[in-house]
Amino acid sequence: MSDTLYDVVIIGAGPAGIQAAIHASRKKTRVLMLGRIENSALYGAHIENYAFVGGVTDGCDILRVGIEQAETFGTEVSPEDVLKISQEAELFLLTLETGREIMTRSLIFAMGVSKKKLKVPGENDFAGRGVSYCVDCDANFYRGATVAVTGDRSAAVDGALTLLNYAAKVYLVGDRLSVSPELLSRLEESEVEWIQDTITAIKGEHAVTSIQLDRGEPIVTDGIFIELGSKGALELATQIGVLLDTESFKYIQTNANRETNIPGIYAAGDIIGPPYQMAKAVGDGCVAGMAAATYARSLRRRQQTEQA
Ligand SMILES: Cc1cc2nc3c(=O)[nH]c(=O)nc-3n(C[C@H](O)[C@H](O)[C@H](O)COP(=O)(O)OP(=O)(O)OC[C@H]3O[C@@H](n4cnc5c(N)ncnc54)[C@H](O)[C@@H]3O)c2cc1C
Repeated sequence: MSDTLYDVVIIGAGPAGIQAAIHASRKKTRVLMLGRIENSALYGAHIENYAFVGGVTDGCDILRVGIEQAETFGTEVSPEDVLKISQEAELFLLTLETGREIMTRSLIFAMGVSKKKLKVPGENDFAGRGVSYCVDCDANFYRGATVAVTGDRSAAVDGALTLLNYAAKVYLVGDRLSVSPELLSRLEESEVEWIQDTITAIKGEHAVTSIQLDRGEPIVTDGIFIELGSKGALELATQIGVLLDTESFKYIQTNANRETNIPGIYAAGDIIGPPYQMAKAVGDGCVAGMAAATYARSLRRRQQTEQA
């Protein structure tokens, strides 16, 4: 088996992803779980409404125990963000923030929901008039323009690098970046101007004309992309044609097996909708993990028979 081919890859290391990893790994499949526990919504939470865990327990402790359990059952764990997904025949090809590429027979989206608002004056006023939340959706509107991106994780850095293909000038405003060394060096070697500061206001008249910084001079810009968090589920799902719910277009749509419209792709946890609760995420993860492993094993058997 190729080093880079997995049966099940799980994007997300929160309760949904971890439970999916445990159940998939126990079904004799090669499983990789990507993502950082520090970026899980559970990390800073104090849990007292989860059955079987008495008292108040720190979310970060629950996550650490879960990762250890998953590793015990054979899950490979890597704290890398996924930046790109494509389909090659019956396999999925993932590009990670380190530049590494991996293939998988099945895929589970367990990326949670990110709170994307910057919450500064002007943000709501100019939404859709220079304020955007999706580089992949809106980059084309900024051909030849000056744009800024703000955020401190992979979504912001990858977004700024993508915008270089469209805009004449790209700023990245982010105080401390939490990305892999590889992605950081791609940023430093690029023409993106990284400003270590935070945005305090977005200004303009009919549309955005500038952003105000906490410590530095204002930046004149035609647009500001608010890309907080990791590379978002919405963008990754759109890249590969996964359908979202038809009411809010905010959640991935699944059937009772947590399978999406694309055979081999499953989703679990907050990403498929409320209630945003650990108990529900764990339940979803269990169903998705088992279903994805069953799918991958059957595909693997067929591929092996065809090769023989
Ligand atoms: C302050 C707070 C308090 C809470 N209190 C409670 C409570 O008391 N009880 C309760 O039941 N629930 C509580 N919750 C909700 C609970 O934490 C969530 O419902 C749960 O964490 C959702 O799990 P998830 O696995 O779906 O997503 P998350 O736990 O958010 O995990 C998402 C994972 O996806 C990863 N990821 C995202 N994008 C990418 C990418 N591009 N590539 C790779 N990885 C990626 C992240 O790194 C992270 O590991 C609370 C939440 C918050 C914020």
